[in-house]
Amino acid sequence: MNNFKEKVAIVTGAASGIGRALSEAMSREKAIVVAADINQEGVEEIVSKTRKEGGRAVPKRIDVSNPEDVKKLIDDTVREYGRIDYIFNNAGLSISGETHDLTLEHWQKVIGVNLMGVIYGTTYAYSVMVKQQFGHIVNIASLAGLIGFPMNTPYATTKYGVVGLSTSLREEGADLGIKVSVVCPGYIDTGIFDAAIMLNVDKEKIMDNLPFKLMEVKKAAELILKGVARNKAIITFPFYAGLLWRLYRLHPALLNPLRRKTVKEFRALRAE
Ligand code: NAD
Repeated sequence: MNNFKEKVAIVTGAASGIGRALSEAMSREKAIVVAADINQEGVEEIVSKTRKEGGRAVPKRIDVSNPEDVKKLIDDTVREYGRIDYIFNNAGLSISGETHDLTLEHWQKVIGVNLMGVIYGTTYAYSVMVKQQFGHIVNIASLAGLIGFPMNTPYATTKYGVVGLSTSLREEGADLGIKVSVVCPGYIDTGIFDAAIMLNVDKEKIMDNLPFKLMEVKKAAELILKGVARNKAIITFPFYAGLLWRLYRLHPALLNPLRRKTVKEFRALRAE
């Protein structure tokens, strides 16, 4: 496992779900967790919980789609702690629906948070890490960044971008002492589904129809940290996510029946 003792780790989207579970797990290992989120109350609550348990987390309110907020987060962290060992660019959201139901504002919202947010976090942290000559950037993408996801096109677009960014930078940063990993999970039991906008469909019915069971978020954080410890390039889980990706690389058409089924089921639930 990683030795997180005294390590400085920034986590975006730390108020809920995967970011919260990562922050709690690293705090238990005595890391200094800079827990950042747009939800100030949420992030303060998790920080006070971890502190009661002996952790050293600090809350920061940021909007990752605002480059100035992200720059300030990085600058403040370096000023307060002298370095950045890890950044988990994790904050994200989903707006799904038939692509002809989406507006450009929907696209801009998803791209602003899921892609530009990760670009800002990566860019500013990478500059610091290049000077330090060490550091690990962990970007949270999705299985939707490895295999297209019908009815969730903006989400898949951003996650493909995050995979491209991370796998390219990994090779570029290696000789400079920087590690880069990208996380591509399947379905995890988090707040993302409550927060998601699903256009013209009954969200509950969509959730009842998910093709796979949701994985427990604590387990997901454990698997991410295990993959980070091994400096894996691409971290996939649960088991089906790795399997589907392998099948897709073998022959993309192998997954067409599953994808067509997603489209059909979504359309059957779509309100007229
Ligand atoms: P979540 O909704 O539980 O947590 C997301 C957090 O991001 C929230 O605390 C939210 O306040 C924060 N956030 C949203 N917009 C923000 C912004 N502009 N600035 C700062 N913070 C912001 O969701 P989660 O499932 O834990 O999602 C974390 C990451 O994991 C996302 O990138 C998501 O795409 C990815 N992911 C999730 C799943 C899943 O099934 N839950 C699967 C694959 C990938």
